[in-house]
Amino acid sequence: MSSKVIITIFGANGDLAKRKLYPSLFRLYKSGNLSKHFAVIGTARRPWSKEYFESVVVESITDLADSPEQAQEFASHFYYQSHDVQDTEHYIELRKLQNSLDEQYQAEHNKLFFLSMAPQFFGTIAKHLKSEQIVDGKGFERLIVEKPFGTDLASASKLNDNLLATFDEEQIFRIDHYLGKEMIQSIFAIRFANLLFENVWNHDYIDNVQITFAEKLGVEERGGYYDHSGALRDMVQNHTLQLLSLLAMDKPKTFTKDDIRAEKIKVFKHLHKPTDNDLKKLFIRGQYTSGKVDGKKYISYRSEPNVDPESTTETFASGAFFVDSERFRGVPFFFRTGKRLTAKGTHVNIVFKQVESIFGSSLQPNVLTIYIQPTEGFSLSMNGKEVGEQFNLAPLTLDYRTDATASGASPEPYEKLIYDVLNNDSTNFSQWDEVRSSWELIDRIETLWANNEVPLHHYKSGTMGPEASFELLNQFEADWNWRPDEAYRKEGRLG
Ligand code: NAD
Repeated sequence: MSSKVIITIFGANGDLAKRKLYPSLFRLYKSGNLSKHFAVIGTARRPWSKEYFESVVVESITDLADSPEQAQEFASHFYYQSHDVQDTEHYIELRKLQNSLDEQYQAEHNKLFFLSMAPQFFGTIAKHLKSEQIVDGKGFERLIVEKPFGTDLASASKLNDNLLATFDEEQIFRIDHYLGKEMIQSIFAIRFANLLFENVWNHDYIDNVQITFAEKLGVEERGGYYDHSGALRDMVQNHTLQLLSLLAMDKPKTFTKDDIRAEKIKVFKHLHKPTDNDLKKLFIRGQYTSGKVDGKKYISYRSEPNVDPESTTETFASGAFFVDSERFRGVPFFFRTGKRLTAKGTHVNIVFKQVESIFGSSLQPNVLTIYIQPTEGFSLSMNGKEVGEQFNLAPLTLDYRTDATASGASPEPYEKLIYDVLNNDSTNFSQWDEVRSSWELIDRIETLWANNEVPLHHYKSGTMGPEASFELLNQFEADWNWRPDEAYRKEGRLG
């Protein structure tokens, strides 16, 4: 890995930079993955001095540093350049700073650009990086771009073309921060390092797969942005389909980035393309109304600040994808994602087929659950025998959970992903072919929804989404495996 690099962050005084990027860079520094041969140029519109920028960086890493001296030493690698992305003159200044820091830190012309700002600026920045020769073909030159990558296929294609004018596909790293999470990485281990699962990971043994991204929060202060986006664009086009591709892919020939990416692409290519009529039945949308959880009242989505009081934007999406591959033909991959649900949690449930009953006892199907957040780990529900003379079956669960994130043992997703970029490893990033395929399908659903050809279901804050999401699974004789709302209701915690 080359840790000799000048990193330029566009959007250096933004929320993401302060909350995620500086702490992640610090963790890489602390673990020795960034050597003394690195510097960070922060750019944004506001005029900040180097001293002030350093103090912002120090503040963002205070909890992680062993000593104030260590934090200060790290922050001394940070430089600030006030910059309006539209202004050519500013790029000339940026090039001068880049070149002088390259010399000072002996970074061997290696450059990493992190676009941590609104995507409408990505094209302009990429264009200027080339025209002002900041990208000069010397050393490695890599570009990290934040989500969202477009709002539909047309805008994503345009954005991609703009980036390709300066960078090759191999140099572009499209962030999907879920792919940096420890348990998403563990899917490879669970699937391919255990004979037990590898041999049954197909339509002969798996009845359905359930992916849940549940948030307890509402839109908070992001109403203005969210009202133009919605759950399908915000969570499904990217995170859900990326996760699905890891669950559905075939075993790669080798565990190298090229072979893994080839298998992922195959899943996207094999995504089933239903007719419009089927799309109307397979994908449902919802929006939260007011509700009460644990005695606390929550307002409806339409009453949230900066949201249109007649908004039809979905805060919940649910549906069934199918993958037309030998391995998974006919197996529904159900998903649901929403805001103001009962509990926060990203879970995957692999529901195996029902086993025939023995000795007249009814049996539960085996379920492998992968907990992605907030706790990490997995569990396997099985059928065991009740202790006693009689042969009675009882469900039992093998549970392995870690609190690795809380203890700091798991790397932060951004730490892992920046580490990968420094290693030129694009396994955990979205490739253009994947983004294109997913937009092709999502656009069709969006069109049906925008034309109101599919009802907008309302659900009470604190529940697990509208009834329609449960009915969807019932059509396939399935049921959501994770039901935190049932426990809340029993305990009288839902109003
Ligand atoms: P932000 O609004 O807090 O920061 C945006 C930054 O861009 C600021 O530094 C601002 O000064 C700069 N900027 C805006 N216009 C500029 C201009 N004309 N010239 C120069 N600089 C300009 O945004 P954020 O929350 O940090 O998010 C950045 C990106 O990351 C966005 O694309 C967002 O969708 C994405 N993202 C953020 C989060 C998060 O947790 N904050 C999560 C996922 C994705």
